[in-house]
Amino acid sequence: MNVHPVEEVRRIPVTSPATGKIIAEIEETPVHEVPFFYEQGRKAFASWSTMPIPNRIGFLRKLKQMIVNEMEEIARVISDDTGKVLTESIVADIMPTLDAIDHIIRHAEKVLGRQKVRTPLLLFGKKSFIEYMPRGVVLVISPWNYPLQLAMVPMISALAGGNSVILKPSEVTPLVGKYIEDLFKRSGFPEGTIQVAHGGKEVGAAFTAGKPDYIFFTGSVRTGKIIQQQAAKDLIPTTLELGGKDPMIVFGDANLDRAAKAAAWGAFTNSGQVCMSAERLYVERTVYPEFLEKLQGEVHSLRQGDDIDADVGSMTFPAQKNVVREQLDEALQRGAKLVTGLKPEDWKEGMYLPPTVVTDVEQDMKIIQDETFGPLLPVVPFDTEEEAIAYANGTAYGLNASVWTRDREKARRVSSRLVSGAVVINDVIITVANHGLPFGGAKESGIGRYHSEAGLRIFCHEKAIMEDKGFLNSEIQWYPYKGKYPLFLNLFKSYFSEKRDWVTFARNYISLLRNNK
Ligand code: ADP
Repeated sequence: MNVHPVEEVRRIPVTSPATGKIIAEIEETPVHEVPFFYEQGRKAFASWSTMPIPNRIGFLRKLKQMIVNEMEEIARVISDDTGKVLTESIVADIMPTLDAIDHIIRHAEKVLGRQKVRTPLLLFGKKSFIEYMPRGVVLVISPWNYPLQLAMVPMISALAGGNSVILKPSEVTPLVGKYIEDLFKRSGFPEGTIQVAHGGKEVGAAFTAGKPDYIFFTGSVRTGKIIQQQAAKDLIPTTLELGGKDPMIVFGDANLDRAAKAAAWGAFTNSGQVCMSAERLYVERTVYPEFLEKLQGEVHSLRQGDDIDADVGSMTFPAQKNVVREQLDEALQRGAKLVTGLKPEDWKEGMYLPPTVVTDVEQDMKIIQDETFGPLLPVVPFDTEEEAIAYANGTAYGLNASVWTRDREKARRVSSRLVSGAVVINDVIITVANHGLPFGGAKESGIGRYHSEAGLRIFCHEKAIMEDKGFLNSEIQWYPYKGKYPLFLNLFKSYFSEKRDWVTFARNYISLLRNNK
């Protein structure tokens, strides 16, 4: 509903990164509409939150079927908006969305239902439960790299729990934002349950300041910190899914052919614009030259383009090209060498960057310390397990990591010592594809987890409930305390001793009960 004069509406031009052409225009949501969105969201929450979970799940089933029916069209919109190749649109954006819906359909009722908890003997006669109560209006702010799943998965998780949702999708990929809005409308969700606000950071900031009941943010560390500061003013709980600088550690005994293919895919899928892409490669010195050669072969065989068989698409966001350029320039100026790719001054016009492997880098270079979010992979040799772990843990990030070896003991030992939200052994990135596992980061990679049971429960107040039948007129710990001290003393000593003295326990407990009037 428009509640403002038409001339105030700003339009965002949508440029296709692959072709550079303007392909659409999106109306920006005026910030003076923010209170109206929250009002609508709260109205919808009143009925949506009281709807039984199976009924809510019914809407998700319909949504899922629509995504299945429209898969090719959605893949096309994602690729137009991001420049990613079609295969990646379905494998890495649509599939995880569908799988998350499936997982939620299967588990929501159990995970969000009332959970019985054991009641200790000292609280004899009572029952204990946990209830999950929806929070209210959840604000989801999403990024441009996986514009479908990184918006949809938190949205459907929040919806399943009984919340209403306001989505502010990335202004860099507004066509997908529009498609999501349309999908929810056509799936018949009650009015106001899902609202989508379009626009850039001013719109995001206005909604953040509009006092949502929860903020789920995926994006850069810089913006994550701004949002957390704003949220702190009103004590609004948040989940922050931020960047990564994921290390890949290859030991000499690993399957090097598999590891080389994985490095090429892990670093260059989606042109490296993945929070969990391999951004640093550490290789045991004994196999370093051999491994580099294999990696070079793999990267040289990649095909860039926007046809149906292409491997590597274009960059999505023009500003991101400058980040890649700056990191590569600094490394090359300080003596780094190109194994594949080109110097930035030789890059072609447009948004396609060559997959670039770099050696002879130092640990204090930006290419090692800062998130690149582009097709740049520095390779560093190491001599010992300790050194590899120190390198891997040596940045401000901790989202994902991978360990490559045929020695299972070593793989598990090293994985346990990595300060990281996830670790993959003999594979890359893939933990994110199992919706049963938690997803989130350590250190500056974020706060909180989603996916798994946590991903449903974060959108609910976890409420502790104890139930007493109310037959007794008093409780042993209530007033008056007269004569109770020695009885409690004996009760606790007998109860908490390594070898419980049940006779003393029972005698004192009965005396305390008798004392109860
Ligand atoms: P990225 O570079 O990955 O897009 P950003 O953190 O810049 O990461 O953006 C992620 C999302 O956050 C986008 O939807 C963007 O519009 C939004 N955003 C950017 N700045 C702010 C802000 N100050 N407050 C709220 N949302 C913001």
